Amino acid sequence: MDTSFFLAWINAIATAVQAERDHLTQLDAAIGDADHGANLDRGFAAVRQALTDAPPQTPGAVLTAAGSALIRKVGGASGPLYGTAFRQMGRSLGDAAEITPEALAAGLEAALAGIQKLGGAAEGDKTLVDALAPAVRALGRAVQDGTKLTDALAATEAAAQEGARATVPLEARKGRASYLGPRSVGHEDPGAASTVLIFAALREAAGQ
Ligand code: ADP
Ligand code: MG
Ligand code: MG
Repeated sequence: MDTSFFLAWINAIATAVQAERDHLTQLDAAIGDADHGANLDRGFAAVRQALTDAPPQTPGAVLTAAGSALIRKVGGASGPLYGTAFRQMGRSLGDAAEITPEALAAGLEAALAGIQKLGGAAEGDKTLVDALAPAVRALGRAVQDGTKLTDALAATEAAAQEGARATVPLEARKGRASYLGPRSVGHEDPGAASTVLIFAALREAAGQ
């Protein structure tokens, strides 16, 4: 996977976030402040602009630039969290021109660690970690088993999807939704839903 693969991934995320903007906002209206779709759409529009203004030359630089733009542009919790995730992943990829599946899996592990360090959420707290953590595990397993990349990324997306669905019956313990206590039960976490889009975009980029 080269620089253009990572640019394709980020562009696919931006497109998906734009298409799902209202859906993400509706999810956030139920248990938050109804801005998750708008936050991410604004953030990824800024990411696209940053990548056009100063085209990065390595996969790591693509992710670092994307993360920095998200941190700069998104005021909500998701901006610093996703921003840190992309920056940590960029750092993990270093200045390699070509990324192996093993390095991709390690990069996503670094992204998860960055989010957990910053936000303090564990699995089961009804946050995007509930989609991200099982996806990262699924990718690690598939890569270890030598699964073909497109199949590995399909399994990764499926794990994220399942993790997001599993947030519905949970009570939120982090973020704005936690203010609702038991009233947060019965709704899908918006951040978990946007994490699914990120992995769907990754699978899409690999299928091109
Ligand atoms: P805000 O809640 O500040 O308006 P967003 O609506 O953009 O920000 O993002 C909300 C999402 O952020 C939640 O659905 C949840 O998945 C995620 N989130 C919030 N707090 C945390 C945290 N401490 N750790 C991990 N994810 C979190
Ligand atoms: Mg919100
Ligand atoms: Mg907000």
